[in-house]
Amino acid sequence: MSALVTVRDLVKTYGEGEAETRVLKGLDMELAEGDLAALLGPSGSGKSTLLTILGTLMQPTSGQHIMLGEDLTRARDAALTEFRNRHIGFVFQFHHLLPDFTALENVIFPTAIAEGRETAGARRRGEQLLDRVGLAHRMDFRATALSGGQKQRVAIARALMNQPELVVADEPTGNLDRESAEQVMGLIAEINEQEKTTFLISTHDEKIAAACKRQIKVVDGKTVSD
Ligand code: ADP
Ligand code: MG
Repeated sequence: MSALVTVRDLVKTYGEGEAETRVLKGLDMELAEGDLAALLGPSGSGKSTLLTILGTLMQPTSGQHIMLGEDLTRARDAALTEFRNRHIGFVFQFHHLLPDFTALENVIFPTAIAEGRETAGARRRGEQLLDRVGLAHRMDFRATALSGGQKQRVAIARALMNQPELVVADEPTGNLDRESAEQVMGLIAEINEQEKTTFLISTHDEKIAAACKRQIKVVDGKTVSD
């Protein structure tokens, strides 16, 4: 398998002068196509920082970030936005669904906004994805009428809308009870298996980490043990 993502000597500092915090300290990492990787490390170790950089939502202070052969640390903002829309999906601990919109609207809106219109094709894909995550019968329910696990499954469907090569998930089960957490992780593993979508999932949950094919740990701003 070839590398989907490569980061080399990644450094990220927040603040300046006295207040400077060095979070990533020359981190190296590679994700292969089709990886299902857990990102582990104590609270404050920089997992969210790394996921935010891999998601192209923030540039590192220095170092290299390459995805699909493109050096993203050199890309301009507009190119980065386009790259992100085409190739990367996001799932967060809190689902960030629009409460007054239906499950289906939540899945198709980001694409509709990015493309400036809602197409019949997008609607069909949204319906297929909701079916895929086991929510065909909840498509027209408002987000507020869904359980925590169902909301997170809608968030997964939304993340997959543009057929991204990479999905970064920041503690996607952190807010769920045990049963819903395992269902959501089972769904992620199934999608990884069937669609070959690459996932990087930060988690504190050992069972979730064990359900991944790789475990990458961040310690003192670098990756260790895999
Ligand atoms: P984790 O997700 O592993 O808990 P984070 O990446 O959220 O770690 O945070 C790593 C460190 O960076 C923490 O010390 C945190 O306080 C600090 N940090 C994160 N985001 C910011 C920010 N926007 N400004 C300043 N410090 C930040
Ligand atoms: Mg975090």
